[in-house]
Amino acid sequence: MIKDIKGLHHVTSMASDARQNNRFFTDTLGLRRVKQTVNFDDPSVYHLYYGDETGSAGTVMTYFPFPNMMLGRPGVGEVGETQFSVPKGSLKFWQDRFTAQGVDGLELDAVFGANRLRFMGPDGDGLALIESSDDKRAPWVADGIPDDAAIRGFAGARFNLNDTAATEELLGFMGYQRAEKEGDVTRFIIPNGNGANTIDLAALPKTPFARQGAGSVHHIAFAVENRERQLEVRKALMDTGYQVTPVIDRDYFWAIYFRTPGGVLFEVATNEPGFNRDEDTAHLGEALKLPTRYEDYRDQIQANLVPLAA
Ligand code: ZN
Repeated sequence: MIKDIKGLHHVTSMASDARQNNRFFTDTLGLRRVKQTVNFDDPSVYHLYYGDETGSAGTVMTYFPFPNMMLGRPGVGEVGETQFSVPKGSLKFWQDRFTAQGVDGLELDAVFGANRLRFMGPDGDGLALIESSDDKRAPWVADGIPDDAAIRGFAGARFNLNDTAATEELLGFMGYQRAEKEGDVTRFIIPNGNGANTIDLAALPKTPFARQGAGSVHHIAFAVENRERQLEVRKALMDTGYQVTPVIDRDYFWAIYFRTPGGVLFEVATNEPGFNRDEDTAHLGEALKLPTRYEDYRDQIQANLVPLAA
């Protein structure tokens, strides 16, 4: 069994409009844009990262905004809900804020004993705020959002699956422990995680498969401390029969990817070197950063991208 997974590292989704996406995550949700770069496989598209002050593992929501991309169709085989952790008692603040800003899909309920406010991102993204009374992570505090309401990072994510059996087995192998079951949803928790500690598996046997598009989660990344741990995790997964990519340099972390039996694309990413590797912490996310191989094309690339608000 793998013992090196520390919870989530980041969640990467797709969007149809970079400016709208940037405004929603920095202004409406009050996260910090910690990096402004391009999709390393398609530099005509931004890769935007939003998180806490330094972009700590377990706080980072990332987006590929493909201009005018068609909306995805929710279904099984994907992450159906990305969940952010907020302090207990803060959902009223968020409900009022979202209502005033015209955020769609507001639904207040409780899951596994915690209050939840579900809402949609600009492309119908399945998002939720979950109240927690014991999340010690320091928040990034943005204009108009008090410290006692600000997002602490991810709480976790819910996968929508036709059949959960193989994913349950995989999560167990990755060090997650099975916790309660509530209706069709089974909760898994990583012990000694970074705060983004839960994965909920919803069993939806009759639901059709999702069609990926704007608003869909592209992949979900799990955190490991460093490259040595990552190589151990890679070997353990390969020895168990998973087809894992070689280690890929993403400039701010090292990544490996593998497709899981339920359809969700998993990544395992390192906490090193981090988002301040090429910018001071005070100025993270302000300038367009490019991987070295694209620097010669900077003018061309920049001309192709819509400028973002600061
Ligand atoms: Zn990723």
